[in-house]
Amino acid sequence: PKDAVRILVTGAAGQIGYALAPMIARGIMLGPDQPVILHLLDIQPVAGSLKGVRMELIDAAFPLLQGILATTDVNEACKGVNIAVMIGGFPCKEGMERRDVMHKNVPIFKAQASALEQHAAPDCKILVVANPANTNALILKEFAPSIPVKNITCLTRLDHNRALSHISERLNVDVRDVKNVNIWGNHSSTQYPDANYATAATDSGEKSVRELVADDHWIDSEYINSVRERGSEIIKARKLSSALSAASAACDHVHDWIIGTAKGTWVSMGVSSDGSYGIQPDIIYSFPVTCQKGEWSIVQGLKINEFSREKMDTSMKELTREGSLAYSCLNQ
Ligand code: NDP
Repeated sequence: PKDAVRILVTGAAGQIGYALAPMIARGIMLGPDQPVILHLLDIQPVAGSLKGVRMELIDAAFPLLQGILATTDVNEACKGVNIAVMIGGFPCKEGMERRDVMHKNVPIFKAQASALEQHAAPDCKILVVANPANTNALILKEFAPSIPVKNITCLTRLDHNRALSHISERLNVDVRDVKNVNIWGNHSSTQYPDANYATAATDSGEKSVRELVADDHWIDSEYINSVRERGSEIIKARKLSSALSAASAACDHVHDWIIGTAKGTWVSMGVSSDGSYGIQPDIIYSFPVTCQKGEWSIVQGLKINEFSREKMDTSMKELTREGSLAYSCLNQ
């Protein structure tokens, strides 16, 4: 039998955490033969609720779940973890500006960077979900210099999955038959869902989504806006932000990173830019990536037209501004 993998979930008593922990314990993240030990972290005010989550996980008697550590001590939580899913953070409430959220969340990521650096396994892979996800990941990277940059990523997979399902609905094909959409940039309203390389399997073979849709206005406008606005629509409908789909996307992100992407397909991940596609190096930007043996690489050679260029640059500029703002939050 395989050794258990230790997985840290921060904000584990929150909405996404509550949906994610059972998915991990059922083997959805790492596969049906991989035992796991969950490290659940949350803050003192919700310690009672965290205890309840632990009790429910025990009661579910998951065969793969070999242990649960539930704690409010960040150093204890990070000990020996191989994977860290960072969900804990103040949510953006009505009337709050992104700047207010940053003031609250950026210092949390600075502190957690040190804890991970000191206590996590040296090859620990990190996924940041809490918003502003790209910039929180940037702060982690800056304040945990001994963690390899390749091991720090942020979640844009929910946007990617939304993009796939929007196309599947529009074309009335199974979602598994659609591939190679991608999300460029920030996990924010400037993200650019790009369907220019997307294909769908049809009875007569694989075809370009743009050709199948046969409506440029839909691809260049409605599709982009509906992927971008899906999160707000869910808040309107549920009076809460998306949780089960965010948890499922976090599982997909880690699964594909560790187990690998299927041949001929790519996924979107927020990773440290190496300057590919003219994106400013070192910012955490969402790119199309393929993964093999636990390593992601940015898909190269995609042709970028003027329309895409402008949208990719807008999101890059927003991230640069957010990065500077994050530093100013820390220096105040
Ligand atoms: P959720 O579990 O719903 O969301 C957690 C974080 O994920 C938020 O920052 C949210 O940002 C973000 N997020 C990123 N992408 C998505 C997405 N696609 N859909 C939804 N959310 C997304 O929040 P809860 O308030 O239920 O839980 C947060 C937990 O964090 C709580 O248990 C709380 O105790 C803990 N916490 C920990 C802190 C710390 O460690 N110091 C500080 C504050 C809270 P957004 O709201 O912008 O969508």
